[in-house]
Amino acid sequence: MSTKPVLQIALPVPLPGCYDYLYPGSPAPAQGTRVQVPFGRRTLVGVVHGQTQSDYPKLKAVSAVLDDTPVFTAELYALCERAARYYHHPLGEVLNYALPALLRQGGDAQPSQEKRWRLTERGTHVSDEQVSRAPRQHQALQVLREHPKGLSSAMLNALDVASPALNALRDKGWAEQFVVENGPGISKEVLAEPPLAANGEQQQAIHAIQDAEGFTPFLLDGVTGSGKTEVYLQAMAPQLAAGKQVLVLVPEIGLTPQTVQRFRQRFAVPVTTLHSGLTDRERLDNWLAARDGKARIIIGTRSAIFTPLANPGLIIVDEAHDSSLKQQDGFRYHARDLATWRAKTLNIPVVLGSATPALETLQLARDQRFHWLKLSRRATEQQRPGIEILDATLAPPNQPLLPLSLQAIKQCVDNGNQALVFINRRGYAPMILCQDCGWQAECKRCDSFLTWHRAENNLRCHHCDSQQRVPSRCPSCGSSAIHEAGSGTEKLTELLEQSLPVPVIRIDRDATRRKGELDSKLKTIRQGDPAVLVGTQMLAKGHHFPKLALVVILDMDAGFLSADFRGPEQAAQLLLQVAGRSGREGQGRVLLQTRHPDHHLLQLAASGDYPALASALLEERRMAALPPFGHLALFRCEAMTLGKAMAFLQELAQQPVADGVNVLGPVPAPMEKRAGRYRAQLLLQANQRAPLHQTLERLLDAARQSPQSRQCRWHVDVDPIDML
Ligand code: ADP
Ligand code: ZN
Ligand code: ZN
Repeated sequence: MSTKPVLQIALPVPLPGCYDYLYPGSPAPAQGTRVQVPFGRRTLVGVVHGQTQSDYPKLKAVSAVLDDTPVFTAELYALCERAARYYHHPLGEVLNYALPALLRQGGDAQPSQEKRWRLTERGTHVSDEQVSRAPRQHQALQVLREHPKGLSSAMLNALDVASPALNALRDKGWAEQFVVENGPGISKEVLAEPPLAANGEQQQAIHAIQDAEGFTPFLLDGVTGSGKTEVYLQAMAPQLAAGKQVLVLVPEIGLTPQTVQRFRQRFAVPVTTLHSGLTDRERLDNWLAARDGKARIIIGTRSAIFTPLANPGLIIVDEAHDSSLKQQDGFRYHARDLATWRAKTLNIPVVLGSATPALETLQLARDQRFHWLKLSRRATEQQRPGIEILDATLAPPNQPLLPLSLQAIKQCVDNGNQALVFINRRGYAPMILCQDCGWQAECKRCDSFLTWHRAENNLRCHHCDSQQRVPSRCPSCGSSAIHEAGSGTEKLTELLEQSLPVPVIRIDRDATRRKGELDSKLKTIRQGDPAVLVGTQMLAKGHHFPKLALVVILDMDAGFLSADFRGPEQAAQLLLQVAGRSGREGQGRVLLQTRHPDHHLLQLAASGDYPALASALLEERRMAALPPFGHLALFRCEAMTLGKAMAFLQELAQQPVADGVNVLGPVPAPMEKRAGRYRAQLLLQANQRAPLHQTLERLLDAARQSPQSRQCRWHVDVDPIDML
């Protein structure tokens, strides 16, 4: 039997490995080129991985080649391959994920062309009399005369010029459409405004980054308000002047438009963003602008780590401890880690900036594998406010705020300032219960209580989004003594509105659902009139509110007491981020209400001594061989019964494992039932990565072959950050 040339195609299907397709043409498309292939009854867009020969008689052929040149640069392709291996995720799905939606769907990898209408040479000589009997053409002619550089159809429409009139002018040879060349704004000077005068610590950091040659990883460890952004801005200037691109990852652009604004203001080079708020077309155009080197600063959320770059010079990860950098479903990668890999391959510096570095990053700095740059003071002479601990058990019954806190808020707004009450719980009250029999409203589909949303007057599950009506009588004993317990943002807002003469601005997911609502609220806050803000963690990150002088923090205890080993670290990070919003441009004060005022870790965090807290936590991690000292991977499984989920994982747990790998479980997940499914997990731990990955590979093989796998949904999470 004769062999034929075939292409190995990576397809977006949940199975490892590539698929062979005949490709009779020559030369064969290179790695990273998109093709269309038949797959079962569907047609899929896949990516060429390589070439080989096959004698298998029933191979299908590639139906179309979609790109003249590969959409993936070799470097980006290699990054995807490495990520697929490391996270044990199918290559085809990783490649698919890395592409903008329009390219995934098979669209052209071409920037959109802006077309405009203008008058032709002949059109400019047409007199008004010539069109006196066609008023619409007359009007169109006039508008085009006033805009010699041309107008898009949309703009013409807005000026009441419709296409029939334009087409008529074109047919007479008086008007035409042309394509606008959007060349890069070429300017010798990259700075649009002078930099601030950096202080001593900032200067050291800036120079260290500027002087770095080749791959150099930095931890920029600077307290909130210490001017990390100014360091990024000055460190990147020489790169931009040398014609290089800078990639900046941020947690959530929608929440921090100011950050993007600061980059745009400082530099006279094209700044492009990549985030979920863009249309597919905008995203593709921005992606192409980065690939073609037209965009010089690319700011994006985690998936932007997969942006192709023509001429990369520096990668910056802002708020590098932030959990949004880890994707929590599907392809579970960590953009922070990929940023470091990528910088290494590209042989360029990478800067991870944070006021509260992740323990993983901190340990790399301690081991001198990262250069540790410290900014210990606020840039603006302001003292960092200490956190005052208040004993919340002294609160009057059913009052979320201690009298002392309420008084401080009153005083704050009386002085013409703003106060923030932080509570990481939306809705009116987190619980509804019967006073006679103790019944509580629970979600039928999850192991969780329902939150009362008073504005909509329903009970909602924050885990599966299911809703119920508020019962007027106890479903268990019939009593009408149904009460709420605890408080969320809605109730606090109401309480504060009743006791204060100033506006209360609520910022949480429910109160910012409508488009533009968040922006307009943030704008009001920045205008600086006295007000009280009530917010969830949406308000914790990155915001700079000049008039915010007081922060009152409620209910952070759960994190510090959590069974998840990352609980205290994440709680401390959040606490210090929130506290950092206070007193940015004046005297600030932070009050922390807690029911555990003596808790050791909470006290350490409140003292503002994150390094001491981190040391204590790192010591615990070392003893327990947890990250960063040990490495973890988690198999999660969901099924219609707990028995099925456990049995499937039990089968995996019986597989032979490599030396040095510990298999823990299976055990039911901390939240055993969620959205109607039962959940269990199997944890793998090892001090070395190699045996862990070997074992994972074996378990994955077993999982795919197991008949039990058909009755469950399962996945593996490498370096999980959420153990729930
Ligand atoms: P971080 O990102 O570390 O929280 P920012 O970069 O937002 O801090 O800086 C906080 C504030 O300090 C900003 O208003 C910024 O303009 C100001 N700032 C930063 N560096 C300087 C400096 N060298 N001189 C004066 N103001 C500065
Ligand atoms: Zn009852
Ligand atoms: Zn639920």
